[in-house]
Amino acid sequence: MKNDVFITNSPEQTRALAQKMARGLKGGEVFLIFGDLGAGKTTFVQGLAEGLDVPGDFYVVSPSFSLINEYPGRLKLIHVDLYRLEPSQVEDLGLEDYFEKENVVVVEWAERIPFRLIPPGAVQITIHYLKDQSRRIEIIPPPKQHNP
Ligand code: ADP
Ligand code: MG
Repeated sequence: MKNDVFITNSPEQTRALAQKMARGLKGGEVFLIFGDLGAGKTTFVQGLAEGLDVPGDFYVVSPSFSLINEYPGRLKLIHVDLYRLEPSQVEDLGLEDYFEKENVVVVEWAERIPFRLIPPGAVQITIHYLKDQSRRIEIIPPPKQHNP
């Protein structure tokens, strides 16, 4: 995976980008998504779900109340939203238990994760609102030595 910047001009394009990315996943990946409220983080996760063949009757929504949602697919998609949590509360979630080969873990409001809990292979995704339906999506892979 290379460091990449994309501009999307609709939610559909954001989903399509994420869907394409998800097709190549093998399990064990962790995505940390950064971006303001309404940037499109959950929309991006919907695309990941499509690309992991999560059945369409599972509609991916922000797990703001349950904190962690799991979706069955080609790999299990673990969707985490830390919006309401303090870093000390994140410590108690047991996130580490989800970083498994058969899972793809995606975290909204990843800035809430204490540094020592971030897996070395985590991919950073930052979504910036540009205007109207335009978003800038930057994908930053982990440092070279952590790539398989
Ligand atoms: P977040 O999870 O970051 O708070 P959501 O994905 O829930 O954001 O909401 C993003 C909103 O912006 C949705 O209503 C979506 O339809 C809209 N939107 C408009 N253009 C885009 C785009 N290019 N990419 C993603 N979402 C977009
Ligand atoms: Mg969201």
